[in-house]
Amino acid sequence: MTNSGEEPDSSGDVPPILAPPMWPPPPPASRPRSTNSDSSAAGLLGVMAVVAAGLFLALKLGFVLHSDPQPWPISSTPVTFVAAVVFTAGMVKAGFIAAHAGRRASERRRLRDDAERTRSAAAVARSSRVANLAANPATAKYARLVERGENWSDEDIAYAEDAQAVATCEHLLPIERTMRAAGIAVRPLTRLQVNAKCRIDMAALQSQFDAGPPVRYAEFYAADRRENDNPTAFLICDAHRSIIHTLHPNEAGATGLPLFPSQPA
Ligand SMILES: [Zn+2]
Repeated sequence: MTNSGEEPDSSGDVPPILAPPMWPPPPPASRPRSTNSDSSAAGLLGVMAVVAAGLFLALKLGFVLHSDPQPWPISSTPVTFVAAVVFTAGMVKAGFIAAHAGRRASERRRLRDDAERTRSAAAVARSSRVANLAANPATAKYARLVERGENWSDEDIAYAEDAQAVATCEHLLPIERTMRAAGIAVRPLTRLQVNAKCRIDMAALQSQFDAGPPVRYAEFYAADRRENDNPTAFLICDAHRSIIHTLHPNEAGATGLPLFPSQPA
């Protein structure tokens, strides 16, 4: 390992770029169940008033159509006026409620259709990608991986096919190169960052690579809800913000992965 002599940042703080990308989102805060019995009682009274007003107006209409003399309160103009106002207001409100429900139903339909369209478009894109990869003998094996649901861009394939390709900075690339030569699955992530399916033996790494500043190994729990949430491990060059993401020894599936560097027999 070359040491550029740059001042190492040995603060030990986790740089912000290392926030694990797939942390489980916090559960929605459980809201106390609101006691809305008051509003539902008021709603029930309102419905009863509208029904009563409707019955009153129907009765009044019957008397008018039959030209019969109207008893009180059917004959009362103020009561008729109030009934007409209450009934009209009730009908207007019912119309608003129906329109709102209709809008919500059509919004749900639209969201469902959008999701369906997105799913079909993704399936078509994946099928076309599989067909293109399968048509070329050099990339046929990646067609099967993409068909299985893995994502392999042209850059990923070029990296995988070129055993000499490296994606990390000058300080980490000897480690990345040795990992690849040892048969460890390494995939480029973003600029200067790769993912390596292995665990790190820091003592062996230091003795074999002189892995000192600006390179350091970090292994921690990015505690979320529980103390042992999000086990995280990586090798990082603090000078270039270049990272080799590895598996934390206590991460699910880590025990089945190779230890790097492997101890000489
Ligand atoms: Zn570096």
